[in-house]
Amino acid sequence: MQQSSKTVWRMASLVEQQLSSLRSETNIVLPEVDWLSCLRLIRMRQEAQERGWFRAAAKVERELITEVLQLTRQLVTLQQELESATAQKPVPAIRIVYEDLLALEEEFAGYDIDLKNKTISVVTESIVLEGVYLGAFEIRLELADQNSDSPFHYTVIAQDPQPPITDDAVTHPHVQSDNVCEGDARVPIRRALEQGRLLDFFVLVSRLLRTYNPESPYVALSDWHSAECSECADVVTSEEQTHCTNCENRLCRQCANSCVDCNSSFCHDCATRCEICRDDCCESCLKECVLCRSSSCSNCLDNEERCPICETQEDEETYEPDQETTSPETVSPAGTPL
Ligand SMILES: [Zn+2]
Ligand SMILES: [Zn+2]
Ligand SMILES: [Zn+2]
Ligand SMILES: [Zn+2]
Ligand SMILES: [Zn+2]
Repeated sequence: MQQSSKTVWRMASLVEQQLSSLRSETNIVLPEVDWLSCLRLIRMRQEAQERGWFRAAAKVERELITEVLQLTRQLVTLQQELESATAQKPVPAIRIVYEDLLALEEEFAGYDIDLKNKTISVVTESIVLEGVYLGAFEIRLELADQNSDSPFHYTVIAQDPQPPITDDAVTHPHVQSDNVCEGDARVPIRRALEQGRLLDFFVLVSRLLRTYNPESPYVALSDWHSAECSECADVVTSEEQTHCTNCENRLCRQCANSCVDCNSSFCHDCATRCEICRDDCCESCLKECVLCRSSSCSNCLDNEERCPICETQEDEETYEPDQETTSPETVSPAGTPL
């Protein structure tokens, strides 16, 4: 989308502010706690010597050595931090950030500045790696809030997510949950952001998305559309696969036991059977026979919820000749045979 030059200018000034505020915020903290504990040990050592407790004095001295070493390390770290802070390049002028933002419009088809949410987004072209279509990605750079240790953070959002068969959170061999595994590009990306070189940043990330490193993918491209059946270890493709309704294990068609009643698939461990007909029937579809309590599928129970065995038995019992219930056609009303 074409951005008005006013919007671009405002964003450039926000970026510039962001970089300068974080630059001036380097905290200088002296290791006071360790300093005080050294002082305390020195006093203890002196006291021990005055009283002639030489063994105690020697023990305190060893503690003091460790403590002084610790103090030295902290001072050296502080010195390095101060040195690297002053060595950092000065914040780029707004003009340079502005020109970078304009160049983004030329470089990428999709481009957006959101002043309210303080984000700059570009959309890559559609990406296909080794024949696997992954769709286009939005690279969204966000100006971090003041407490953050880096001035920006960014996410990579699939525009037409094509996750592999094994993991819905992965949208690219090097992108998981919208975060990129930067690999070797980590340092150049960090540096571009710290120095406010926005065009370089977006170009680096989009190049990263167009590259496949078979050494360290979240999911390898070769496994994108297929995975193993958890039961027989056969390779299943996304179209063929089913999952166990209970434990969600991946299954091939042959290994899926489907319930006679609800048709859901189950793995071997989660499958249950009707005790009467022995067909696969899932736990939630099984019902008990009201009389013998056998677990049965709905096909095996009659409308009074009796299994065939109990049904026959009960019918035989009720069929026994009886004055009250016998048919009037076989027995005369007076009770005497005709
Ligand atoms: Zn299988
Ligand atoms: Zn299962
Ligand atoms: Zn069922
Ligand atoms: Zn049955
Ligand atoms: Zn029964």
